[in-house]
Amino acid sequence: MVSSCLKKTILNWLILSLLIGTWTSCSSPSKINALPATPQLAETPKNIILLIGDGMALSQVSAGVYWNGGLDKSAFGQFPVVGFHKSHAHDELITDSAAGATAFSCGKKTFNGAIGMTPDKEACHTILEDWSQSGKATGIVVTCTATHATPASFIAHQEMRAFTESIALEYLNTPLDCFVGGGAYYFSTRRPDQLNLKDSLIKRGYVVREGTSFQRLPLGGEHPFMLLTHDKEPPTASAGRRYLPKAVKEVSRFLEKRSPNGFFMLVEGSQIDWALHANDQHWLKAEMLDFDAAIWEALKFAATNGETLVVVTGDHECGGLALKDLNDKRLFKPGFASKYHTGTMVPVFAFGPQATLFNGIYDNTAIYQKIKQAMPPTQ
Ligand code: MG
Ligand code: ZN
Repeated sequence: MVSSCLKKTILNWLILSLLIGTWTSCSSPSKINALPATPQLAETPKNIILLIGDGMALSQVSAGVYWNGGLDKSAFGQFPVVGFHKSHAHDELITDSAAGATAFSCGKKTFNGAIGMTPDKEACHTILEDWSQSGKATGIVVTCTATHATPASFIAHQEMRAFTESIALEYLNTPLDCFVGGGAYYFSTRRPDQLNLKDSLIKRGYVVREGTSFQRLPLGGEHPFMLLTHDKEPPTASAGRRYLPKAVKEVSRFLEKRSPNGFFMLVEGSQIDWALHANDQHWLKAEMLDFDAAIWEALKFAATNGETLVVVTGDHECGGLALKDLNDKRLFKPGFASKYHTGTMVPVFAFGPQATLFNGIYDNTAIYQKIKQAMPPTQ
């Protein structure tokens, strides 16, 4: 009797320990990160890493910090400089992601839907194009397709974001050193015009691979490459997509090797916005944690390197997200006031040489000016 009771107690204790262990590992997705000691910071940056959380404004960052377990664990807690930008488009208070990204890439307010184009429908030269022409290495890492509005606005010039086949063609015009993201379809002969862009890229010296493995890529810097992770849009982080933080780590090292003149890397947490349009808190949480892990990788590179400016922002708010009270007063319940973008201001976080340029409140176009001021293309 005693022995069976003891067995039961031990069994219960074992089950409880397992449960606590599981709960602990689930509730702290990342061990407490710590940045390596930063060497003496350079006066001006040699490299820029711009990370955009699509649809991410102050409420999304707040939720992400709480979901992550606080400022010590969240990458957002590591930034010494914070500002705000006004995200409005040329002629509308509420911007879309095309006009929002064009403000960052060209420094011009434009109309919603425009990709790398002014309100007069003139192509505007992007920072990525400038730097790639001046001998810096350039890279794009996203969790959407290569043709989606945010990455497209840095490399293409189209009146409408829906012209996705034309946007893919424009990847042949700029000597981009690296792309990681979805959209293999747009580079294949399955396009309506049956052009084989994959072959054209290979003829230009690119290594083109499909999937999410970083093996068999020229990571030593010998060739430019495209890693097309999925045929069209990559899956959600909640469905198991994991490549973004790894891509930031690998691509920053790759770009450093590609050019002695430094690099510009664009990173997008593309699906934060999609989770917000869907008013889906579980999807949002998974995307915010994934983006936070990607920012950690950028910060770790920058802290070790000492010559890298990291800028993190969103293009606009989406979902009208509020952190509402719950019966359990220590927690919050996400509430949504909208299924579309809103006009609230967006925080900007900066780390590294010239980070203090990003203090204050300014238009989204000033981010382009400040990045160029920090690292002139002719440098
Ligand atoms: Mg986007
Ligand atoms: Zn959106």
